[in-house]
Amino acid sequence: MSSLQEATALLEQSLRTRRSLLGRTRPSVTRDSLERLTETRPRQRSEISNLKSEMPRSARLAALNEAVRACRQCEHLAASRTQTVFGAGNPDADLMFVGEAPGFDEDKKGEPFVGPAGELLTKIITAMGLTRDDVYIANVLKCRPDMPKGSPGNRPPEPLEMQRCLPYLREQIAIIQPRILVALGKTAMAGLTGRDEAMGAMRGRWFTFENIPLLATYHPSYLLRNGSMSEKRKVWEDMLLVMEKLSLPISEKQRGFFRTAS
Ligand code: SF4
Repeated sequence: MSSLQEATALLEQSLRTRRSLLGRTRPSVTRDSLERLTETRPRQRSEISNLKSEMPRSARLAALNEAVRACRQCEHLAASRTQTVFGAGNPDADLMFVGEAPGFDEDKKGEPFVGPAGELLTKIITAMGLTRDDVYIANVLKCRPDMPKGSPGNRPPEPLEMQRCLPYLREQIAIIQPRILVALGKTAMAGLTGRDEAMGAMRGRWFTFENIPLLATYHPSYLLRNGSMSEKRKVWEDMLLVMEKLSLPISEKQRGFFRTAS
């Protein structure tokens, strides 16, 4: 008998004695309840992850966002950022878009895809019959890649920066559990999968990330630079693939978007 069991037996016996002196025959404290009271075993990892998975997705994302806000792994980005840009949208989304990194506008507003490229992404989502509140949008990198002081524009993230930040995106995806991921652009694909191929060779093809189907397509900023109907049609064909996989309704009008140029 362990010392803890001996102590429990002694305590139980003394309670019995006290109850009988008070004229009661049955103790109201049982051995089970005493053992529960004296339980000192630390919670197992599996119990903690069960508790975590019972939390609402929005609460788990909020907790992760707090960790991102405090992150200073890339000291140069932590020093230059206005704020971190975690992600936005529906925590229960079936569809999640992943870009490369916040730019100037996103850094100022703290939201992904809010500049001109973001407006075009919103139009694409609307054309699919969805809203930004139906999907989730995030980037591989949560801080804006720094630029020389006074320089306009944005730069793509470095592989090491993406490697450091990827665990946050991985956790976001694990919480949201989307049915489909769409990588917007070559850099996002490189950050997610390590592939370094031309976007023209990857777009329209299905890959996987953590066993989730992943489709690659052009970044909206590419369409802003090269707004030809044929390139727009390619992105739209990729979105039709996504809609089919999600069993979303597709009208004849939707099927025909930008077709005249193909
Ligand atoms: S980019 Fe990611 S890893 Fe680097 S400081 Fe920002 S949040 Fe942290």
